[in-house]
Amino acid sequence: KVADVPGLPEGVADHLESGGIEELYPPQAEAVEAGVAEGESLVASVPTASGKTLVAELAMLSAVERGGKALYIVPLRALAGEKATEFEEFEQFGFSVGVSTGNYEDDGSRLSGNDIIVATSEKVDSLVRNGAGWIDDLSCVVADEVHLVDDDHRGPTLEVTLAKLRQRVQDLQVVALSATVGNADEIAEWLDAELVDSTWRPIDLRTGVHYGQGVHYDDGTQEELATGGSDSQTAAIVEDTLQDGGSTLVFVNSRRNAEAAARRLADVTKQGISDDDRQRLREVADEIRGVSDTETSDDLADAVEKGAAFHHAGLAREHRELVEDAFRERAIKVVSATPTLAAGVNTPSRRVVVRDWQRYDGTAGGMQPLSVLEVHQMFGRAGRPGRDPYGEAVLLANNHDELEELFDRYIYAEPEPVRSKLAAEPALRTHVLAAVATGFTTTEDALHEFLGETLYATQTDDPGRLKRVTKDVLAYLERNGFVEREDGTLRATSTGHLVSQLYVDPMSAATLVDGLRAAERGETASSGRQRASGDPEEAGFQTAGEMQETDSEADSDADGEGASPTPFGLFHLVSRTPDMYELYLRSGDREQYTELAYEREDELLGSAPREEEAAFEDWLSALKTAKLLEDWASELDEDRIAERYGVGPGDIRGKVETAEWLLHAAERLAGDLDDVESAAAVREARKRVEYGVREELLDLAGVRDVGRKRARRLYNAGIESRADLRNAEKSLVLGAVRGREKTAERILENVGHPDPEMDAVSADADAAAAAE
Ligand code: ADP
Repeated sequence: KVADVPGLPEGVADHLESGGIEELYPPQAEAVEAGVAEGESLVASVPTASGKTLVAELAMLSAVERGGKALYIVPLRALAGEKATEFEEFEQFGFSVGVSTGNYEDDGSRLSGNDIIVATSEKVDSLVRNGAGWIDDLSCVVADEVHLVDDDHRGPTLEVTLAKLRQRVQDLQVVALSATVGNADEIAEWLDAELVDSTWRPIDLRTGVHYGQGVHYDDGTQEELATGGSDSQTAAIVEDTLQDGGSTLVFVNSRRNAEAAARRLADVTKQGISDDDRQRLREVADEIRGVSDTETSDDLADAVEKGAAFHHAGLAREHRELVEDAFRERAIKVVSATPTLAAGVNTPSRRVVVRDWQRYDGTAGGMQPLSVLEVHQMFGRAGRPGRDPYGEAVLLANNHDELEELFDRYIYAEPEPVRSKLAAEPALRTHVLAAVATGFTTTEDALHEFLGETLYATQTDDPGRLKRVTKDVLAYLERNGFVEREDGTLRATSTGHLVSQLYVDPMSAATLVDGLRAAERGETASSGRQRASGDPEEAGFQTAGEMQETDSEADSDADGEGASPTPFGLFHLVSRTPDMYELYLRSGDREQYTELAYEREDELLGSAPREEEAAFEDWLSALKTAKLLEDWASELDEDRIAERYGVGPGDIRGKVETAEWLLHAAERLAGDLDDVESAAAVREARKRVEYGVREELLDLAGVRDVGRKRARRLYNAGIESRADLRNAEKSLVLGAVRGREKTAERILENVGHPDPEMDAVSADADAAAAAE
């Protein structure tokens, strides 16, 4: 019984009971018996939706009650807010909850008043680096989805963060929550933790494969679907589920596929919608359209009106939340989703269809099967306890061979073991510098000792490997002037400290520093090309066929006189760093961007790789990204950008945010180099990206509630600066915000207008039209 859990603060058990949680689920009971509410470390490897969150809550609440703070580490920034909201229900018992997101360079001192803190592992790592004092007050840390230590990109940070926290805080309770994996015992061994390894689920799950007219289940039964008219397997399953009053979650392998599937499935769902649902769906669709007026937003709203939706990481957060809520309420009958976010979001459904069990993998060069772990996590979303009699999860087979293959591959198979990815160089580069910069380790031996505390060390049978890579990494950091060594003592240089605090990959920092130095010397792709060949007409990065006259401006910059870097040059510089996620070159791009490189060569900092070099491809992809950023900072519509580069609005935002952050790092590094001129140029480029505007709008777009579109309309109406806006005629402002009085008032108030209140007379349509 919840009431029997030791160490819980007064009132919590009653509160949980009134919320319908009276008895612990068996894995929860096991966790309590293992001492999770009494400070014991624990690894809980249990299926999705089996109540891991409650285990975390029992641990955190009892830990705070004993004294100290609790930290909850989420795998995705998008989940931090959601988790914090869940924990806020305990604020009534005197616990305060804080979320740490965004700004990488703060030390999170604002959080020191909170009892429960939610953050991503990247954020926690950065807080430790920036010396957040409250880290020492932690008594409990929870790592959600700890199986993600297996992830190539983000796994090492989680792994190192946990190792660091454990070394820094004595007797720290670590609670690691994991999906069912093949080697939970190894994770427990690494963390010196008790283990709960269970396959128990609160609701029965049947798994199977759809083939022909019906589903073949794991218990040997077969079931015909109650539909005939549907033209695809997925549609048939959705229709059958609908007839039974249930909802379906369909997993596909790309955003585009998610959108296309929602469009098609909307034709199935639209037939069986009740009047109440129709009303509700219309409201949700309106809210979706209100978030932004992009094509994605429209497509989503159109599908939602018919009872279907798509869900992927390219959607705006507000869109995702609207979809999740309406699906949980059962107004939306089917959601087609990419697995990225759906794995962490609590959106159970009567049926789950894993439509695509392969996805494109650029590194492996083709379609690759999903892991058993991933497919089982998707399966786990089937069935809503208390609402559905059971859950069903199915894969789709096209022929009999595939039917058997899918059974072997996913239905009968055990999930893979989790393997550390720490020995990869970018990860070690970052973490070794951080360990030295924070004074955490000051000798190479101590560094090896610390790395010996990681999961990697627990798992590897080649202990020499980590040592070797670490040596290479240290050499790299010394060569770039981030770390120095004196009598065997390692110390970070001032630049090294800065790089670690900025939370960029040291290789990104090295690229930025090189680019800024090149700018100081006036070295650009054009000068590099001329110097390399001794003749401007000879090959640089362009082929003979693409030769053009060098214009006079490029000549003047090529003399070695340092000119201030342009925004485009800086966008290209930040896009070349390993921290910027690359845009791929599509067919035809190579030619187009090679030409662009030639046209703008006098702006591109440092020398360009030759066209036959392998690095040229990356350099050109960076140019494509730079062009996207320039388009954004030239006020091109998001829809047009999305179309031009084949990306979603969420991707544009992602790139923009990353560019902002890297430009911020570049600005600080320029300061470190005492390069005042470049620092000013970088600041301006950063603002252009931040607001997404041309230079002349920088002043206006910085006003709260203005934004890029309104700033442009104000400017066109003759209001060109904040000063103009402060003295502006209200009718003009009203026109720029398309007649929205409240918004106009807010803007005027934000800019300090002496009399922001609108009078009704000025709100007439004529004035608005005139301003347009
Ligand atoms: P997981 O984190 O394992 O995916 P959750 O913690 O989100 O799963 O739990 C899934 C659902 O089960 C939640 O809605 C939660 O309120 C409910 N739940 C958890 N524990 C219990 C319990 N002991 N009794 C009843 N419901 C529970």
